Amino acid sequence: MTATTLDPAASPATLDRIRAHLVGLNMPRALEVLEHILRRIERGEISALEAIDTLLGEELTLREGRRVRSALKMGRLINIKTLGGFDFSFQPSLDRDRIMALAQLDFVDRHEAVHFLGQPGCGKTHLALALGVEAVKSGRSVYFATLADIVSSLAKAEREGTLRERLRFLCRPQLLIVDEIGYLPVIPGGGNLFFQLVNARYERGAMILTSNRGFAEWGDVFGGTVVATALLDRLLHHAVVVQIEGASYRLRRHADLIPDNTRTRSITTPQPQPRRRGRPPKMTSTQPDTDL
Ligand code: ADP
Ligand code: MG
Repeated sequence: MTATTLDPAASPATLDRIRAHLVGLNMPRALEVLEHILRRIERGEISALEAIDTLLGEELTLREGRRVRSALKMGRLINIKTLGGFDFSFQPSLDRDRIMALAQLDFVDRHEAVHFLGQPGCGKTHLALALGVEAVKSGRSVYFATLADIVSSLAKAEREGTLRERLRFLCRPQLLIVDEIGYLPVIPGGGNLFFQLVNARYERGAMILTSNRGFAEWGDVFGGTVVATALLDRLLHHAVVVQIEGASYRLRRHADLIPDNTRTRSITTPQPQPRRRGRPPKMTSTQPDTDL
């Protein structure tokens, strides 16, 4: 604590001018805390430097909170999940350090794809959202949507002659999260439309994809092996595959009601390696022997 008395120059006129500056600079939070900070200076609780620090810090915190809230909304990250809220002890197959390394977001800057694979309820969407929230906090742009939403928006744009614009819109965010691949087969022509998006983002923007189906089943999901192979070609080239072997968190209190064979089944099945170009794939997994 540094004892400081208010500068005698801090006359009412000076204080009025400071208030007017804060209004002019659009600093509502600083204006709000000004009186309190002045009292603390008077009481000798903080120095002048600490007062400036607190004033600016309060304003910055307000702005940062606003920026994050607005970016989360724009990116459709409505249902907020955090890494802190993820119980890693419930998913022993999941390497916590590996997820924390992903939270450093280098994969976003390297334009890679991260796949979360596993049974319903094992935490795929939670982890995807949590990484999305980290990306927003760090100032990176993110957009979250289900595969069904993306495909239907592309199909609508195609009907209306605005497909190029829609593709451009979906290429803009640094991180695109595509949730729920495999719950429903895509609409006819949807595989092709999704391929156009994936191809447009390939090596230009990062993606997180969640799926309850193994890659070998993508032919069924996307309406044909040709389009599925082309998709996987791009989506597995610079990719991180995280297989979650565990059971549903939603059903954790009712595990005894679920048949054994659906409880902790791995969903990846061996399949031929897709054609690749350029540098070798960086596929890693918590269960390397069972992947691909
Ligand atoms: P999935 O997308 O794999 O079907 P979700 O990520 O939607 O599953 O998880 C289902 C629900 O359980 C969500 O509310 C999620 O927050 C929660 N959940 C899942 N796994 C965990 C976990 N390990 N710790 C805490 N909450 C979890
Ligand atoms: Mg999900």
